[in-house]
Amino acid sequence: MKAPAFGYLRPASLAEALALLQSHPDAKLLAGGQSLLPALNLRLSQPSHLIDIGRLAELCGISVQQGRLRIAALTRHAELQASPLIAQAAPLLHAAIQHVAHPAIRSRGTIGGSLANADPAAELPACALALQARIDVLGPGGARSIQACDFFTGLFETALGSDEILAAVEIDTPCEGAVFGFQELARRSGDYAIVGLAAAGRVEGGALAELRLAYFSVGATAILATNAAACLLGTAADPASLSRAEAALAQDLDPPDDLQASSATRLHLARVLLRRVVSSMMPQQRLAA
Ligand SMILES: Cc1cc2nc3c(=O)[nH]c(=O)nc-3n(C[C@H](O)[C@H](O)[C@H](O)COP(=O)(O)OP(=O)(O)OC[C@H]3O[C@@H](n4cnc5c(N)ncnc54)[C@H](O)[C@@H]3O)c2cc1C
Repeated sequence: MKAPAFGYLRPASLAEALALLQSHPDAKLLAGGQSLLPALNLRLSQPSHLIDIGRLAELCGISVQQGRLRIAALTRHAELQASPLIAQAAPLLHAAIQHVAHPAIRSRGTIGGSLANADPAAELPACALALQARIDVLGPGGARSIQACDFFTGLFETALGSDEILAAVEIDTPCEGAVFGFQELARRSGDYAIVGLAAAGRVEGGALAELRLAYFSVGATAILATNAAACLLGTAADPASLSRAEAALAQDLDPPDDLQASSATRLHLARVLLRRVVSSMMPQQRLAA
């Protein structure tokens, strides 16, 4: 199918982009176009105009400021993958990004587009939850920040206003004892995951002092499995604690049935990932492996 007719606007500055969003309430922002253009072609979206922000230098760049990593919205997936700063300051993103689609899509798709799109099967929203990211937004009223746990509000829905632009994502750089884990199960490399898990935590004295387990492809949004994580806190992720956490996952997740997998299969796979990912995060188990 072909996209419906739309007007095309290319602002020269962020201020102009914000003004255009206000004067064109039915417009859509265009970043990498890797989700929006397929949606137009399938007529899932019919905006009056596309506002192309893809060349705004104000939305580019990766930096560390006062112990926080700041990734501007137009940072492409391929840049995340290649950045030594990301590899060092955000190992979870570095691990996850290689699972996002294929090189051609990673060369155009952006972190801002992925978070704003809020696909429940996408890797980056789950990483944002696990890392307790802060999402910086600009709108007619100025700047505001939204915690990742408040940002993803539903299926392809976020707390972004229709007149707002996602400007950047900020995360804390790793503290002492910080540990991360990422795995997903997909039919083929580059496919959206059937189930995936992004995890971040902290190990102190050989035990988990913090743990956030963010699952994706298991519901309308990425989901923090708080009951399962609670079973592992204060433990060294020994087999008995892992079994308790696996059982508790039934309280956290109620995955949908679809053509790829039944709800029961997804819950089973979520348990498989829990054991694999958490084990990979424990220093002593990594040494033994
Ligand atoms: C074949 C294929 C396979 C894919 N596989 C995966 C995968 O495995 N995992 C995965 O996570 N993704 C996958 N994607 C999606 C890809 O990662 C997209 O690049 C990403 O989801 C959207 O980024 P974008 O920059 O292309 O956004 P766009 O497509 O330009 O925009 C997406 C949406 O976000 C809005 N938007 C964009 N930027 C902003 C901003 N700064 N502020 C506010 N709103 C904004 C747009 O208006 C639009 O509604 C796949 C895409 C394709 C075509």
